[in-house]
Amino acid sequence: MAQIPTAIREPEIKFTQLFINNEWVNSVSGKTFPTLNPTNGKTICDVQEGDKADVDLAVAAAKKAFEFGSPWQKMDASKRGALLHKVADLVERDRLYLASLETLDCGKSFKDAYGEMAAVSNFLRYFAGWTDKIQGKTIPIDGAFFCYTRHEPVGVCGSIIPWNFPLVLFALKLAPALACGNTVVLKPAEQTPLTALYAATLFKEAGFPAGVVNIVPGYGPTAGAAISSHPDVNKISFTGSTDVGQTIMAAAARSNLKRVTLELGGKSPLVVWKDANIDTVVEWAHQAIFFNCGQVCTAGSRTYVHEDLYDEFVKKAVARAKAKTIGDPFDTKSEYGPQVCEEQFNKVLELIESGKTEGATLETGGQRHGTDGYFVQPTVFSNVTEKMRIGREEIFGPVQSIMKFKDMEEIIARANDTKYGLAAAIFTEDIDTALTFTSRVKAGTVWVNCYFKTGPGAPFGGFGMSGIGRECGEYGLQAYTEVKNVVMKTSVKL
Ligand code: ADP
Ligand code: MG
Repeated sequence: MAQIPTAIREPEIKFTQLFINNEWVNSVSGKTFPTLNPTNGKTICDVQEGDKADVDLAVAAAKKAFEFGSPWQKMDASKRGALLHKVADLVERDRLYLASLETLDCGKSFKDAYGEMAAVSNFLRYFAGWTDKIQGKTIPIDGAFFCYTRHEPVGVCGSIIPWNFPLVLFALKLAPALACGNTVVLKPAEQTPLTALYAATLFKEAGFPAGVVNIVPGYGPTAGAAISSHPDVNKISFTGSTDVGQTIMAAAARSNLKRVTLELGGKSPLVVWKDANIDTVVEWAHQAIFFNCGQVCTAGSRTYVHEDLYDEFVKKAVARAKAKTIGDPFDTKSEYGPQVCEEQFNKVLELIESGKTEGATLETGGQRHGTDGYFVQPTVFSNVTEKMRIGREEIFGPVQSIMKFKDMEEIIARANDTKYGLAAAIFTEDIDTALTFTSRVKAGTVWVNCYFKTGPGAPFGGFGMSGIGRECGEYGLQAYTEVKNVVMKTSVKL
């Protein structure tokens, strides 16, 4: 990675209103909500709180911007691509500011936030490239007919995103939607609204017509529910918890059968086969669970170690966790900062307690770190089983759960013994072991001898209760288009 500049510790907060129709407006109710700094629990600023009335306005703007004859509808696909590239340029221009704002609002390490801003522009550029390559087929049907398909935009796309990768997920939702010619109403997470609001202005600056991008900060059961049940929203894309995903899908079904993609929870198995290089794999397994304080849907949260390596692995994993530097996320020496909010912090500590009472061995950590903010010590449990809550439930915290296994049949059965199916990994030198595992494990992404590696072109999503549909890449475009089949009678056989 290029040299990381010094963070702006107190980035100026420039935008705290709703962004509708390329304008900043207050909420209809006049209500606001605070967004907090998770390193100390103090309010950074108050943000206008969107609710149903505001969502109605945003959706009306998005609907109008999508209408036949609108500047957006008339825009050439290549021009849409140029605009997305322009936003990517602006994200690069403001990278230091955006990364600093992200760290302030969600507590993630500045080093990571700075890296994530590169991912944001990569998403924008990747989908910018697709704008003029979204094309249908000509299909030979019997008779004298011309049959072809068009991949048309769906219309108004609702996006609801969580707080763990605020601007990355913002880009991951907006870029494909816009590339296909849709308009968007997006609700950022109530814990982390600030970077999405700032980024909204970059779309305006780049030249996106009014109403194409609308941002409504607010809470889930109010603003979020209004988006998912709105009769004029044609598609909803959600990233967050499985429970909320189920609520959103039900609301989508009841309202207007809007198209749904869901990217939900996980409890991903990371398997250390007996031939793995132990030092390498200890580090991969460590990063797989401790990256972003464990606040990652694909976190490797079940560490399965072959019995031949188990004792040595536990010893080394514990030593690695003990050596971890946690603290001020603006300090580039910090490997991780606080959990995002008090609710998440309490949930992580409660699950740690359950691990202790259900009989897992607490090897290190297990407590709050410090006295301010929402920091949790790097925690490692050994002797975990899938019967324990820490072996089944998504903790979303810096808690490694290590389990022992013997052979392939056992590990396949145990890896698949979950309602989730987001990701999985195996570390082995043996090709046949790798192929057996990758073909039999039920997960949307399977890594071999690596973890978290992906790119904007690689499809991302889950089996089972980890979600519906795929995001990213060519697969991800499908959710943002309707296929229209046209059949024309002709005088000649084509
Ligand atoms: P997490 O548990 O990771 O915070 P949530 O699923 O609770 O994830 O939240 C993810 C996003 O879903 C947030 O933007 C939140 O406001 C929103 N949300 C929460 N509840 C609802 C709901 N009932 N309807 C729509 N959106 C919701
Ligand atoms: Mg915050």
